Amino acid sequence: MKSSPPKTRSCGARRAKVTAFDRDLQALIDDMLETMRAAPGVGLAAPQVGVSQRVIVIDLPEDEEVYGPGAGETHIVVNPEIVKAAREMVDGTEGCLSIPGYAGTVERAESVKVRGQDRHGKPVRIKAEGWLARVFQHEIDHLDGVLFIDRASAVWRVDEGSGGRPDAPGDRRSGGGILSARRYALKTAPSGLEGAVLVCSDCRATVRG
Ligand code: ZN
Repeated sequence: MKSSPPKTRSCGARRAKVTAFDRDLQALIDDMLETMRAAPGVGLAAPQVGVSQRVIVIDLPEDEEVYGPGAGETHIVVNPEIVKAAREMVDGTEGCLSIPGYAGTVERAESVKVRGQDRHGKPVRIKAEGWLARVFQHEIDHLDGVLFIDRASAVWRVDEGSGGRPDAPGDRRSGGGILSARRYALKTAPSGLEGAVLVCSDCRATVRG
């Protein structure tokens, strides 16, 4: 990245709102899209590339059977905010490379309305449901230093292609991140798990049918 602000490591910290829609922001967004697609992942938040700003990108694969109505959509949202969330909550499986080697069950609102700005500062409003709604909630959480394991009802290890070192969680984050996984009973993936494993960026493209 050409001009990356300093990395932040704190968990639970709110990332700064973007106020300048300048060349640096355009470069950041292009870099995030490239990083997300190379991972490959379905979403990425700026803090995951070490930039403490409120920017997310989402790119759902064109598999409508897995990803539902938002399949094939790309979203770039600066300063995203959830302005409305459905009362109906749904469980789904999420993973994140910020927590390599783990996946978990997370309850999310079935649909959300997101407000923010596009890459040029123009206001945007998005109605998202199903997986798209889940990805928005996961990515916006990153902007507030919240990880899926902070919300998970169960967390388990995934070995296939995780690329992580589940036995050596390390201390990349203190007071949060992977250490929080200890709050949950780690267990092996439930058999007959349905739906896709959410992969953000970063998060490996592990998809279960
Ligand atoms: Zn993530």
